[in-house]
Amino acid sequence: MPNTDLKFVKCCICGSMDLNALFPIGKSSLLSCSLCSLQFLSPLPDRESLNKIYEDYYSVWGIDQLDKEISAMKKKTFSSYLNYLKLPAERGAFLDVGCATGEMLALAREMGFDVYGVEVSPRGVSLCRKLFGEHKIKGKNIEYDDFPAGFFDVITLSDVLEHLTDPPEFIAMLSKMLKSNGLMLIVTPDTSSFTCRLLGKYWPHYKIEHLHYFNRFNLLKMCSSHFKLLTVTTPYKTLTLNYISNIINGYHRNMLARAIVQFIQWLPQRWRANHFKINTGEMLMLFKKIECS
Ligand SMILES: [Zn+2]
Repeated sequence: MPNTDLKFVKCCICGSMDLNALFPIGKSSLLSCSLCSLQFLSPLPDRESLNKIYEDYYSVWGIDQLDKEISAMKKKTFSSYLNYLKLPAERGAFLDVGCATGEMLALAREMGFDVYGVEVSPRGVSLCRKLFGEHKIKGKNIEYDDFPAGFFDVITLSDVLEHLTDPPEFIAMLSKMLKSNGLMLIVTPDTSSFTCRLLGKYWPHYKIEHLHYFNRFNLLKMCSSHFKLLTVTTPYKTLTLNYISNIINGYHRNMLARAIVQFIQWLPQRWRANHFKINTGEMLMLFKKIECS
């Protein structure tokens, strides 16, 4: 277990210092808060290591070879997420945090929104700027003064919250940028999911760039001072075997992983490119900003 001095570490959601070390991830320990069950890495990986990971983050998906297949797959997933939004007839400004290769923004634009994105990977930033306009995409981090208070009608964070160094502070900032009654949609891994409980430390969501791991209880607790919960559900992702094979290849190098990849590669291409829906152990929560008095 990495050498973590727990004396000064506390849970960023409930403030408890009663923490249990679960197992190592990279050079950090995975800690669990005994009060709210938030899991997080300690110490957090340094900024340089994280920047290196994000340098060409989406190449592991196989976007160089499977551009159209992945784009269609992601659009199906995001379309199913956006179905949970109960939208007024008038569309306003829409922010996708972690807009990656732009599929969520493309769908929101088709729905009539004025779309903005934030993205950490340089390749994602450059691609999205070409698609949506230079000034619409913010590279790296987003700051309080990047957008006026009450600017957005909808903010989405799909597979983003777990990457943040200070999620409560980030959520507070997003709530300022949302209009009263504005919507925030979050999809993130769920530590109370069946797959997490079944796979333990082999759960695919455990990786060094995932710094915080939530469940339904502590995510609601974190957001409840700014938001009212509208919907909580288990979302399904649309995937292909080609995509899964690329992800396994990118993250896992053991014999079992290599055998799975070889098996997938042996299958006919039409099977490998076929879309299917799967529960990947995540949760979807839709929040409405509490009306300002
Ligand atoms: Zn806690």
